[in-house]
Amino acid sequence: MITLLKDLVRIKSDTIESANNALLFCESWLEERGIHTTVLQHEGKLMLVAEIGIGDECMIWNGHVDVVPGNPEQFEPFIEGDFLYGRGTADMKAGVASMMQAFYELSKESKSLTKKIQLHIVTDEETDGKTTKFLVDQGYTGDFVICGEPTHLQIGLQAKGIIQFDVILKGKPSHGSRPWEGKNAIEQAFLFDQQLRTLSFLTASNEFYDYPSLNLAKIQAGDRYNVVPDECIISYDLRFVPGQDMQSIISEIKKLAEKFPISEFKIQATAPAVTTEPINPFIERVAHVTSQFIGKPAVLFGQHGAADARFYAETGAGAIEFGPSGGDWHGEKEYVSISSMETYKNILVSLFKK
Ligand SMILES: [Zn+2]
Repeated sequence: MITLLKDLVRIKSDTIESANNALLFCESWLEERGIHTTVLQHEGKLMLVAEIGIGDECMIWNGHVDVVPGNPEQFEPFIEGDFLYGRGTADMKAGVASMMQAFYELSKESKSLTKKIQLHIVTDEETDGKTTKFLVDQGYTGDFVICGEPTHLQIGLQAKGIIQFDVILKGKPSHGSRPWEGKNAIEQAFLFDQQLRTLSFLTASNEFYDYPSLNLAKIQAGDRYNVVPDECIISYDLRFVPGQDMQSIISEIKKLAEKFPISEFKIQATAPAVTTEPINPFIERVAHVTSQFIGKPAVLFGQHGAADARFYAETGAGAIEFGPSGGDWHGEKEYVSISSMETYKNILVSLFKK
């Protein structure tokens, strides 16, 4: 399994084409071990699906083989103690390699499995997640989904929802030496920002999150000293708490925007929250098996960012992020703990043992 991970890290999969190559490598690895795979294509990007087991229930394991760009030396993996370093080790080729190994081990006793397991390997989680979305749209869904992102063997069962929006505030231009004759759009934006931060939806919380988050991501306005700016565009990334109603948040913001004359409010992108509840037989099973391996109760937590789990969650399936321990993903010293990867693989196999 470690050799498999090292081989995967060596495939520099930071573009569509190279991520496809990594996926085809996974295909050959599985086929060589007698596992039938289906490779699908959408907008030039590949996805792999394989299925073993029988029964009405289906658990999905999802992993991505694309990585964010790294230094050339990061694509030459090396081991120091328990850590294997390299781009994409933690995020998330260790998860993929563990899932492939566990899938292979279970495939040898496929007939005795009373549930189906579907392995989904995708190639664009780091960019837009269209390949996972495509699989879900094609009907590749199940009752429960594990995305193997690095979570230190903790169970990430919720993720915040997303609203990305722009507000275009208008002012009135005038000469910079006579600002009282105009209306400064940047100052309007400051005012809007202050009032936005007092709105009630920003105080929401649940058992996993203390509050939503709001990032003022971009400001575009003004181009010379001697002119009072007449337009200011401010762009926000809002992450709301699972359980909050997206539409009522949007109408609260809209109402505020309407107080600023001739301002415009534009939604650029949204994603619903992942609201998997802890009371779920699959989660109880994952938590139980995990606690047996780690010798203490499994930790449930809420993720701040949203990964591919959200596409499955939209179908009503329970979806969690659950993977090995690692660190510095997207950084220069990305690594994964080899022992946690072994434990992770054993947990995946044990989920299907009586
Ligand atoms: Zn990832």
